[in-house]
This record gives sequence, C-alpha cells and structure tokens, in this order.
Amino acid sequence: MKYSRAFLQTLREPPAEAEIKSHQLLLRAGLARKLSAGVYTLLPAGLRVLHHIERIIREEMNRAGAIELLMPALQPAELWKRGPRYDAARQVMFTAQSATRRTSEETVLGPTHEEVVTDLVASVLASYRQLPLTLYQIQTKFRDEIRPRFGLMRGREFLMKDAYSFDCDSDRATASYQAMYNAYSRIFRRIGLHAFAVEADTGVMGGSFSHEFVVPCAVGESEIATTDDGSYAAAIEKAVSLASPRPHNPPPVPFEKFPTPNVTTIEDLTIKHGVAACCQVKTLVYIADSRPVLFLLRGDHVLNEAKVLAAGFSQIRPATPEEIVSMMGCPPGSLGALKPLPSSITRVIADECLRDQHGMTTGANEEGFHIRNISVPRDLHVDEYRDLRTALDGELHPTTRRPLRISRAIEVGHVFKLGTKYSEAFGARFLDTDGQSKPAFMGCYGIGVTRCLQAIIEQHHDENGIIWPASVAPWQVALLLLDESLHEMAEQLETQLESLGITVLVDDRAERPGVKFKDADLLGLPLRLTLGEKSLNSGGVELKLRAGKESTLVPVQEVPTQVQLVLNQLLTAS
Ligand code: ATP
Ligand code: MG
Repeated sequence: MKYSRAFLQTLREPPAEAEIKSHQLLLRAGLARKLSAGVYTLLPAGLRVLHHIERIIREEMNRAGAIELLMPALQPAELWKRGPRYDAARQVMFTAQSATRRTSEETVLGPTHEEVVTDLVASVLASYRQLPLTLYQIQTKFRDEIRPRFGLMRGREFLMKDAYSFDCDSDRATASYQAMYNAYSRIFRRIGLHAFAVEADTGVMGGSFSHEFVVPCAVGESEIATTDDGSYAAAIEKAVSLASPRPHNPPPVPFEKFPTPNVTTIEDLTIKHGVAACCQVKTLVYIADSRPVLFLLRGDHVLNEAKVLAAGFSQIRPATPEEIVSMMGCPPGSLGALKPLPSSITRVIADECLRDQHGMTTGANEEGFHIRNISVPRDLHVDEYRDLRTALDGELHPTTRRPLRISRAIEVGHVFKLGTKYSEAFGARFLDTDGQSKPAFMGCYGIGVTRCLQAIIEQHHDENGIIWPASVAPWQVALLLLDESLHEMAEQLETQLESLGITVLVDDRAERPGVKFKDADLLGLPLRLTLGEKSLNSGGVELKLRAGKESTLVPVQEVPTQVQLVLNQLLTAS
C-alpha cells in the first residue's frame, strides 16, 4: 500500500481536544476522526487494526466453541419491556423513530443484546440435546453515555463482541463461563494488551458472579483494588477490606446534646469540635426504589452505591435537600438516625463498622446541634448491618491480610454468570433428561472492541508515537523511500514482502526524510525499512524496530528473509 493513497494525510491535522495520550495519537496518526461527541469514523489504518483485533477474537471464540451470528441494532421496545431491566437500561438508551411515521412501533438502538438473543433462543430451544450453546457477534452498540470521552474509550456508538451461553444447569454454566474467561485471557494476550481479571459487581445485569478484564491505566475510568502479590483483585464496586479500627471504642455512657452552629460537614465537626471523623456517624438519605432509606457509615468512610444495589435495591439516588428537610424535619448536616425515627423513613441500613460502637457523635436532627457519646446499638435505629463501604487504599484484605492498593484501570471486557433471569423472562426453556421443563442457565460476555483498539495505544506508545504490537499493527513494515530514483526498487521490495504475506506501507510521498521518519514513528509500524542512496552505498537497506533504538544494514536481496525472521520473532514474543 502506498502512503500517498492510504488516506493517512489526515495526520497533518492537529487533534482538536484530545484528553489522553492514546486519544491524541489516535487522531494524530490518522486512525480515527470524530464526527460528534462519542461518535467516530475509523479511517483506513484504524480499520486495519480493528480487523486484526476482530480476527483474533473470532479465532479464539471459535476455538472455545462459540458460534457467530449477527443481531440487529434496531430493536422493538416491546421486547425490552418484556425483559427484566427495561427501566434501568433506558438510562443509556437511544430510541429511534421513523420520520415517515409509517410505523408507530417504538424502537430502540440496542445498548446490548441479552433480550434479543434470549428471545431468539427461546424460539428454537426445546431439548437438553441442543445445549450447551454459546452464540457471539461483533456488532455496533449504542449507549447515550452521560460523558462520552477519551475518543473510542467511551463512545456513544461503539463496537462490542458480545457472547451469550446457554446451559442445562448451574455447573455447566460455570464451565461455559470458564471457557469464555480462558478465551478472553488468550485474546487480550494475543492483541498485545496486558489485561487481568478482577472480581466484579453484577449490577443491573443480575447474576451470580462476574469478572472484569482490565488494563491498568492512570486515566482509566474504573477503580480497582489489588494486593501486591496478585492474590486478590476486585473492582472497587465489589472490593472488600478490613477498615482501620477506631483507636478506642469506649464503654457506653449517657449521651449529650451540644450546640454546633454552622457545622454541616464531617470536617467542620473535626476542626471546630475536635471529633475525629472515625468517631462520627454519617447519615445519608437516599430514595431507594421510590422509598426513603437511611444509610449510616463511619465519618471517614464512603458509601459504595454498588453494594447498596447488591443489598436488593434496583434504583437508588441521594435525596434532594428539600426532600431531606421534609422527611427528617432537619437539613442535611445535622442528621441522625436517633430513636424514634421520623415515620417517613422506611429502612435504616448501617455499615458493619458501626456494629457495637459507642462514644460516637451524630447529628441531633435539629439544625445547629449534634449529640456525643452515642451508643449505636442503644441510641440509633438500625434495621440491618451490611458492608456498605468503599474499600480504601492501604486497608487490609480480610483473608489474605495484605494491604490493598487502589488504582485506576480501563475495563476492556466483562464476563457474567447470569443464571436464569433472562431465560425465565423470555421463556428460553428446554426439556431436561428427567422430562422436566427448565429455564436455560445463561452467561454473557462482552469485549469492547473499539475500546481495546485505543487501550492498545494507551499501553504501547512513547513520546514519538504508537508502537504497535506486531499482531495488530495496521501494516507490519514501513518502507521509507528517501530517493525517488529508487522507486522501482521499492516496488520490487514491496511485491517480494507481500508475496511472503507481509503487509507493507511504502512512504512514497514527496516529503523530506525528517518528515517521513517522524510520521513513521507516529504511526508506529513494528518494522521500518529505509531505502535511500546513502544506505545503498554503504551496503543495503536500513532495518529498524520501532520499539528499538539500533538499526542494521541489510543487503537488498536479504531484506525479505530478514524481515520475515524479525517479524516472526516479534509475533512469537507477544
Ligand atoms: P463501563 O463500566 O465502562 O461503562 P460497562 O460495564 O457498562 O462499561 P458492559 O456492558 O460490561 O460495559 O460492556 C462490555 C464491554 O464493552 C465493556 O467491558 C467495555 O470494554 C465496552 N464498553 C462499554 N461501554 C462502552 C462505551 N461507551 N464505549 C466503548 N466501549 C464500551
Ligand atoms: Mg461492565
């Protein structure tokens, strides 16, 4: 392929507002171009990378026994309404309407495909003999993300590989899950991503267990908790830890109200009245499934909303200040779950760390007053204790007793063991060996294909540009033609390399060598060949690895075999 015809000149245009390095490189190297917020055109070089990622995904999915199909993006809303999570899914859904109004049917653009695939399988599944079955597709998803950003990392339209497994029972569903988990590990390794699995929250998907595959990245949007020896890794939504204990839990003594004018935060109470955050009870008012609920935590702890959802709520939001005043009779800042509770509050859930704690301070439910020497079991109304806390950096993991590090990462894949939530909703049932009709046990498995493309750049670049892993590079070799007089020799080399199955991008532009070297570094093809009078006079063509510093001189006739050798080394090393 000739550079002048590869549509790569686009790289001349400076990126408009790239927020992270990989986004900047994606635009500068001419791989993608923004159409609107979270919506991108993949330019030819970017598309070539995508095709490599897709090929590797297909090879590994097929190897794991999954079967490819392609489901529609345009989906009847009616189907979603029959499913178990329409309301939650609508938070990110695009709807589509016919401008002609020939049809009044409500249509959505699929954010994912559990509903469609389960309905499909329900229509064909009859017997245990048809199971196990894993179906997959590589298909465009639409999500109205609150904050589309970082280029392909968080798009409103993006490509996903999604797979769905159907099994006779829970054990066999676990085996299908494991097969996908293993396939994911292979896929990420082969495309050059250093990804690892973390225990994950099942969230709105429902289901019994789940892992996210993540790549560490300082600007990633996911937070993970890991121990240094790698024995524990979990998404922050799921991470468990031992809280650092309060220095002292005193015996219970009578409580005492005291004035706290203008104190509305944990910090205020610490600064103005010397009450350590760990000795305060934080009272949070939420609307959970339309009902007011209080969550209580130690003042130095942070509520983990995913753990609240795991407690059995399906939709939660913090109450507004107005709602708080009307329910508690007092503004936020002086709240307490004191007995007796205002009648509007339906439930109080306290974090485990508050169990049996005395000598605590909480709001008096009266503006400008707090109460000290609170004994939680004696003075506060608590219906239930649960783990509600977000794990903090440095806390110990409960069983390994190793300190947790909280860091940022990019989620590139997600595997769920779903259970029968969807198969029951859509009637995906089969007759088992015992003649009983049973719902299929499902799993679902996603990889963000376009997100992976950019995550690879995020993991493989230096100050000069991208350094593509050989397995996914848009072309394997950059052949820089420095003297137009050597045009024919370049063509010959290109033909010879291509006949060996090696992909080549010939920089045939009328540009100065400096520009060509710079652009070659930016685009980051694994091997660079430089063909010029100077190197020919000293004995051949200059061969350089993008990832290395040294170059070697290779006699012209040996170039194809040398290139093949080095490429093979790169491919097997990855
Ligand atoms: P996130 O937490 O990043 O919003 P998610 O948990 O909603 O992702 P899943 O529903 O698990 O995503 O989708 C499967 C995979 O699709 C994710 O692991 C991720 O790699 C990718 N993905 C999800 N949302 C986007 C998006 N807006 N843009 C690009 N890729 C995405
Ligand atoms: Mg996910």
